[in-house]
Order: sequence, then C-alpha cells, then structure tokens
Amino acid sequence: MKPILVSGIQPSGKLHIGNYLGALKNFVDLQNTGRYQCYFTIVDLHSITEDFDPKQKRKQILDLAADFLAVGLDPKKSVIFLQSQVPAHAELTWILNTITPMGELRRMTQFKEKTTVGNESENVGLFDYPVLMAADILLYDAKFVPVGNDQLQHLELTRTLARKFNSRFGKAFTEPEALLTETPRVMSLGDPKKKMSKSQPDTCIFIDDTPEAIRGKVKHAVTDSSSEVKYDPANKPGISNILSVYAALSGDPIKKIEEEFAGKNYGYFKAMFAETVISYFAEFRKKKKSLIRKPRKLASVLYSGSKKASKMASKKISEVKKKIGIGI
Ligand code: ADP
Repeated sequence: MKPILVSGIQPSGKLHIGNYLGALKNFVDLQNTGRYQCYFTIVDLHSITEDFDPKQKRKQILDLAADFLAVGLDPKKSVIFLQSQVPAHAELTWILNTITPMGELRRMTQFKEKTTVGNESENVGLFDYPVLMAADILLYDAKFVPVGNDQLQHLELTRTLARKFNSRFGKAFTEPEALLTETPRVMSLGDPKKKMSKSQPDTCIFIDDTPEAIRGKVKHAVTDSSSEVKYDPANKPGISNILSVYAALSGDPIKKIEEEFAGKNYGYFKAMFAETVISYFAEFRKKKKSLIRKPRKLASVLYSGSKKASKMASKKISEVKKKIGIGI
C-alpha cells in the first residue's frame, strides 16, 4: 500500500505565489511521482472561521477547484474533495476537542496573529481551527502533509493529539510528517520580513493576476539601497525573497541566476523576474479561464471526490467511536 498524503487549502480568495510555491505546486509534483495515495481538500469549514460573505462562498469553492485542476491536480490520480461534504471531519474535531488542552491552542502563532489579546468576541471556530486541521489529517491515516512552514506548529499539535489519543484509547491514528518545499515561506513584496499573505493584496502576486498587475507589483517590491543581485537574506531580504521565487519558478539554482544578473541593476532584475512570473502562469491562466466556465464539471469533481473521501473517513470515525465506547 502506498503511503497516504493529505493537504488542504481554504476557499477564501485568490491564491498567491506563496500558496503555490509553499503548497500547491508540491501537491502536483507529489501526485505525479505516483508514490502516494493523495487526498487534496478544499477546506470550506476552515474558511468560515474568518469574516466571509455567504453569497460568495460557493463561487470561492468552485474557483479553488478550478485552481486545483488548472495547476495539474488530476481527479484520476488524486481524491479532490470538499471538506464540508464529509461529516466525519466535524465529528472527529468534536472528539479531539475533548483531549485538546485550551493552553495548547492559546499558544498557536496563527491564532495570536489573527486576534487581538483580550478580545473576547473572537469566535470559537477560529480558536479551534488547528483541531479541525488535525481531524482533516488523522481521518485518513496520512503519513505525509505537504504544507508551508506557517502550518508546522499546527502539524505538531496534530502529532501530539494522535499520540495522546492512541495512548489513552488504543492505536487509531498515524503520526503525520510535514513535507516542505525549497520555498516554505515566501515573503511579502512590501515587507520582506513578513509572510506573503492575501490580507495584503498589493504586496502579493496572485497566480491569476494579469501581466500588468504582476509588472506593477514587482516594480514596487521593496528591495534595499545597494544594487548587487545577491542572495543574502539577513542583509538583502527583499532581493533574496525574489531570488528564491525566481529559482523555484525557473528551475535554475540561485547561483546561476546571480551570475546571469551580475553587473545588472535591480530595475532590470525585477523586470526580468516579472516576465518570468507572467510566462510561468500563462498556461495556468488560460486553463483556469476555461474551467471556470464549467461550474457543473467542477462541482461534479468535488462531488465524486467527496464520496470517495467519505468512505475512508466514515470507517475511521466508526473505529474512533468504538475505541472511546460511544455509539450503539
Ligand atoms: P492562507 O495562509 O493564505 O490563508 P491557507 O491557510 O489556505 O491560505 O494556506 C494554504 C497553504 O499555503 C498552506 O499549506 C500554507 O502553509 C501555504 N502558505 C500560505 N502562505 C504562504 C507563504 N507566504 N509561503 C509559503 N507557503 C504559504
């Protein structure tokens, strides 16, 4: 049996090159090795923990399904499904809640970043986000989870919960391992000390941005006062960030790119980088445009993937209930 691999992305807006290089591109590469049983999910239950418009949600779900297919995820090779269509995710979350200390969740960096200390009006779902993520992974006995490095803390909690459950109730869960890419943390174009995030749309490149938008954003990317194109994250975080994205997209080592731009100024380097991004995603943009016109096809991919995922997940949730002695 091939090892199982699970990961998910929230349908909460456009994907940026951080999502792509930290996670999505890796999903496709891993799928195409043929070495894993892959499950990729659109985590709509996660996406309702932050402000959202219910009228837009379905569109966002189908849009992400189009992203998945346009980058090369293939329903014949991977199970592509919608989290909320598999009730076991919410059920297992509840059960895991009962073995999760509140203190562990309070320590989570992502929760701290998304909330203000002392604000008692934050919703419980946002606090509980990592437990739902643990359920997403543990339900499928995933051995591997490809994610960006902002999710490592959540994955560590998943491992802790698996161990805790197994030792208290008997072995039901596999402890998963993260799979990181060479670019596990793409930084913001506006502040290279911060992670690229869709909450600041002007400083992130969305993978379906138009060529004009890409040129404009790259032109305004923060660099430094010198002019040498050199990888030096401590002293040149802006240029180093662009260099690592350039390397990931072109497939060339950073050294080779440095040599190519020796003696050239930042303006020229940034312009060439923008053109690399534009041509890299040209095919994707075309495919996505045509997929988005077929909402029924997209929905049917999610529907049949969710049926397959449900089969596996309902077996696991039954096993879990039996172990803790609930149900009839
Ligand atoms: P976001 O973090 O943008 O809200 P998700 O939580 O759905 O979106 O993340 C989807 C995947 O993208 C996760 O595996 C996450 O670790 C990865 N990711 C998000 N931002 C970055 C980034 N700046 N660099 C690398 N990977 C990232």
